Amino acid sequence: MLMLLLTLWYFFHQMQLRLDKAQALLRRMATTDTLTNVANRAAVMGRFSEGFARQRRHLSQLGCLMIDVDHFKAVNDRFGHQQGDVVLRELAAIIAGTLRQYDTFGRYGGEEFLMVLDGVDAERLAEIAERTRALVEEKLSAQSGLAEPVTISLGGTLVAPEDQTIDDVIRRADEALYLAKNQGRNRVVLLGLDLLKPGVRPAGSAC
Ligand code: GH3
Ligand code: MG
Ligand code: MG
Repeated sequence: MLMLLLTLWYFFHQMQLRLDKAQALLRRMATTDTLTNVANRAAVMGRFSEGFARQRRHLSQLGCLMIDVDHFKAVNDRFGHQQGDVVLRELAAIIAGTLRQYDTFGRYGGEEFLMVLDGVDAERLAEIAERTRALVEEKLSAQSGLAEPVTISLGGTLVAPEDQTIDDVIRRADEALYLAKNQGRNRVVLLGLDLLKPGVRPAGSAC
């Protein structure tokens, strides 16, 4: 009898382990971008919303960076779509390797990525953005096996008291990105930092 009970327990225990593994795999598949292996849009937006709620309770300051590959259509046209995919994978790996513990990074769509930075002030946001830009300029094309440089533009902002939802924050980051593109690409533009602390305008930002 004891033997039978032990066998049954062992059997159900094994089943439970398999179920847990399958559930973890499903969860990972639902939150990961299949091409780049970083968080997908739903996952990064979910984490952004959680951070936004914390920020609302004044528990931390939150910043975000919208990142877009420069002239990516030309990369595809010149080197082929598959090589373009390699560029996106390498870009994601380079940036994911720089994240701090509480940062979130994911593919927002196409060749656009979103970085959400917890506990940053205007100065730190500017520093991280510029460091990311420079690192990608230095490493991305070589790591992707291309002879020509591939660069990114970044538009960033901090969550401000008047922001009602993360859409307001993303709209401002998008606006900043648009300016970065118009000002020549391969650069960082930060907007709206004055909404938070009048006078805080890091060098190079276009507040
Ligand atoms: P800009 O500097 O203004 O951002 O120029 P761009 O050429 O990067 O911008 P545009 O929006 O015209 O082109 C984006 C291109 O990204 C077009 C699309 O075919 C390509 N793209 C989007 N998703 C993928 C993908 O998953 N793989 C590859 N290889 N290309 C993609
Ligand atoms: Mg784009
Ligand atoms: Mg682009």
